Amino acid sequence: MSSTLEQELVEAFSEFEIIDCHEHLPPEKVYLQQGQDACTLFGHYCRTDLITAGMSPRDYERMLDTDLPLEYRWNLLRPYLDDIRFGTYARAAFIAAKEFYGFDDINDDNYVAISEAMQANLKPGIYQRVLGDKCKIKVALTQAGRTDYQEDPLLVPLMPARDYTDVSTWEAIQRKAGELGMTVNSLDDYVNVMEAGVVKWKREGAVGLKTVSEPTAGPPDRAEAMSLFETLRCGSREKLSDHPTPGVATSLTAPNPLRDYLRDEMLKICARQDMPMAVHAGMWGDFRNLDSQHIIPSIMRHPQTRFDLYHMGMPEVRQTGIIGKNFPNVWLNLCWTHIVSAQMTRSALDEYLDLVPVNKIFAFGGDYHRPVEKVYGHLTLARQNIAWVLARRIEAGVMTEDQALAVARKWFWDNPIECYKLKV
Ligand SMILES: [Zn+2]
Repeated sequence: MSSTLEQELVEAFSEFEIIDCHEHLPPEKVYLQQGQDACTLFGHYCRTDLITAGMSPRDYERMLDTDLPLEYRWNLLRPYLDDIRFGTYARAAFIAAKEFYGFDDINDDNYVAISEAMQANLKPGIYQRVLGDKCKIKVALTQAGRTDYQEDPLLVPLMPARDYTDVSTWEAIQRKAGELGMTVNSLDDYVNVMEAGVVKWKREGAVGLKTVSEPTAGPPDRAEAMSLFETLRCGSREKLSDHPTPGVATSLTAPNPLRDYLRDEMLKICARQDMPMAVHAGMWGDFRNLDSQHIIPSIMRHPQTRFDLYHMGMPEVRQTGIIGKNFPNVWLNLCWTHIVSAQMTRSALDEYLDLVPVNKIFAFGGDYHRPVEKVYGHLTLARQNIAWVLARRIEAGVMTEDQALAVARKWFWDNPIECYKLKV
C-alpha cells in the first residue's frame, strides 16, 4: 500500500503534461492495420517472460497472429499467464485493461469481452485518445525507422544511425549514396553521404539518432578504416563482419574497425547537426555486449555531442548512474525501466537523486509498438515509482513537497525538451 504522501504526488503528476521519451509506434494509419485483443496485450516485452516461463517461440508467434481464432490463441497464452502476471511487464497490460475497458482481471471469463472492447477502440484518433487525452503526452519520441509522421502530431521520430554506420558490403555503400543521388569513391565521400542522410532525416522532422552501447575494437583508427574500405571498394573482400542483432547476440561483437570509425564520425555529425545520439544500453540476450560502459570512450571523445543514455543500462544501473554523474554531455533516460522492474527502477532512481543533477534525468518512455494502451499502464508505474522516491526525501525532511514536484516536472517535461530542443 502506498503512503498518503505517495498518492498525493501521483495525483499531482497526473496533472502534468508529459514528454514520452521513447516509443516504437508507427504512424497511426499503419498501427490501425494490426488487430488488437486480449492476446496482443501480452505481446512485445511480455514475450521474454512467456518464453522464459516455457512457451515456445512458435506458439508465441501464433498467439499474436490475429488471423487465427481468438479462443485457440487464448489457450496458448492461458497456461503461462499465472506465471508471468506478477512481473512488471504483465502489470502494464492489467492496468491498461482496467483503465480503458473496466476489467479488474484478464481471464477465461472476460478475454472475449476485452478483445471486443479493444477492437471497438481501434479507430482513427486512438493515439490522441490514449496518448494525448489519457496520458497527457504532448510529444512522444518514436523509433520505427521512418519519418512519415506528418499526420501524427504527437509523434516525433528518431532514426537509426546504424542504417549508415553499419554497412558491410560495397553494394550497401553504393546503395546508400544512390538513395541520395551521390557517388562514393573514398571513405570521406561516404562520411559526406552519412551527413547528407542525417540532414535529410532532420528536414523530415527527426530530432535525434539512435545507436547501441557495444564493444569496439579500440579507439577509431582512420588508417585501418580506410584499408578496410579499400578491400570492399576493390572487391578483394565481399563482406565485413556484421553486427549481431540485439536480443540474439550470443558472443562478443566481432571487431569491425570500419564500423567503429563510421560510428565515431556519426557522433561528430550529431554535434554539427545539433541532434542528440540516443544510446541503447543493457537487457537484451547476452547483455554483456550491451553494457553502458562500452560507450564511455565515445562520450569522452565527443564532449559537444549530447548522449541520451537509455534504460538505466539495466542491470548495470549503478555504473550508468556514475556515467550520468561524471559527464556533462549525458542525460539518463528511464524509458522501458519501469516495466522491466519497478523495484530496480525505484532503488536506482533513489541513488540517482544522490548522484545526478536533477536536470539530467528523463522520467518516462513507454517503449511500446503495440498495443498503445500499454503506454498508459507503463506511465502509471512510472508515476508510482517516482512518487515512491520523492516521498522518501520529503519524509526525511531533505525536500519540500513543492521542491519534489519541481524535480518531477523537470524529469517528465523540461529536461527532454531541453536536450532534444523540442518545439512544444
Ligand atoms: Zn526501444
